[in-house]
Amino acid sequence: MNFSDSEIVTSVMTSHDYQNADSAGEADVIFLNTCSIRDHAEQRVLNRLRELQSLRRSKPELIIGVLGCMAERLKESLLEEDTLGMRIDMVVGPDAYRDLPRLMLDAETGQKAVNVLLSAEETYADITPVRVAAGGVSAFVSIMRGCENFCSYCVVPYTRGKERSRNPESILSEIRQLLRDGYREVTLLGQNVNSYRWRGEAGDASRDFPWLLEQVAGLDPSLRVRFATSHPKDLSDELLKAMARFPNCCRSIHLPVQSGSTEVLLRMNRKYTREEYMERIGAVRRILPGCALSTDIICGFSGETEEDHRQTLSLMAWAGFDFAFMFKYSERPGTPAEKKHPDDVPEADKARRLEEVIRLQQQLSLRSNQEDVGKVVEVLVEGPSRRSASHVSGRNSHNKVVVFPDLGFRPGDYVRVEVTSCSSATLKGEALQD
Ligand code: SAH
Ligand code: SF4
Repeated sequence: MNFSDSEIVTSVMTSHDYQNADSAGEADVIFLNTCSIRDHAEQRVLNRLRELQSLRRSKPELIIGVLGCMAERLKESLLEEDTLGMRIDMVVGPDAYRDLPRLMLDAETGQKAVNVLLSAEETYADITPVRVAAGGVSAFVSIMRGCENFCSYCVVPYTRGKERSRNPESILSEIRQLLRDGYREVTLLGQNVNSYRWRGEAGDASRDFPWLLEQVAGLDPSLRVRFATSHPKDLSDELLKAMARFPNCCRSIHLPVQSGSTEVLLRMNRKYTREEYMERIGAVRRILPGCALSTDIICGFSGETEEDHRQTLSLMAWAGFDFAFMFKYSERPGTPAEKKHPDDVPEADKARRLEEVIRLQQQLSLRSNQEDVGKVVEVLVEGPSRRSASHVSGRNSHNKVVVFPDLGFRPGDYVRVEVTSCSSATLKGEALQD
């Protein structure tokens, strides 16, 4: 999501006569687009900001700005030079990017510039993102902003504000332009895409996510469509059926479970039980057989017992996730969990549980990949493989990375590849010449 927001920031800046620099050393202005989801993310930003201060020695007029969630969470305190031990010139929250040119005028005259107002309406619908990704094959398209689910551990509802959906016309015209520019894959982005809803002026409530997905997938059968993230509580059969109708809707769903224990899920305010989550996976298997599933898991949330942890492991094994993002619980200031649920799992237990979860996931990913050996998969080529110049790399519909010898392929080509071997992270194969 930050990646996508940075493309909006680039668009705002370049339409006001600023240009992208190739490196921090060459830049007159440096923006860090930040994440507050875990303490670790914020510490990394602070370290990077400290490193960047050295550039001021050769360029005293350098402007350094903090953008995004950390700006929203810490606000003016980021400007307190004595407390922070370094100088930050600009603090700009995620709904204030249109204001950047005006804030720049302040910063350029040596004043500190802040805008951390959250908006109930801003979706940047009319701003065409300037794509910074290499390759020009796959693009992120933001369809909504904010979140009002208030999972008890999560800072997002406070840093990104109210949930709001973007005008579908602007989404579709952005994607039509991407198609004209040669893009072959879009990922529709939102904290909870399943609650996308556009009422428009007519108050028409039927423009929901399954409707939007069909509109996007119907634009061109050679355009792959992905989306992230789905909240399990409202992954509807209707959405799964819409996916089933369009082969270009990728057969892969990211469905964060967070924990396998109903008691922990209740304290997390996730609004579903272990059994309800399992029922939703059952629906995916029934309506979209063979669909890949990935998830997010938090280890060591408040009050998590060894038994709760075993339930997470058993749910993972039952679901056979193809991939997972796995984290240690990080208490975030100002969240309901910080107020109501003490961060009481000892660090050593959190670390061990995370290790066990990661080890199990590696086995599950390996098993899932081994099942693909011998199969033929369709790969959208993204570019040269990072490891070998004589190979190209891309993804299949399941979102698995597939690497195979380059026979003169170009980014954006669809290639049928026979999978010949794998690791837990990658499929390897040979292109079929037909
Ligand atoms: N909106 C998405 C998730 C966005 S945050 C959703 O609900 O699915 C991405 C992931 O970060 C979450 O799914 C969760 O696993 C993790 N996360 C969020 N807050 C966290 C915290 N305080 N500590 C550890 N992990 C956290
Ligand atoms: Fe955070 Fe929950 Fe919203 Fe995801 S759904 S962003 S985890 S509050």
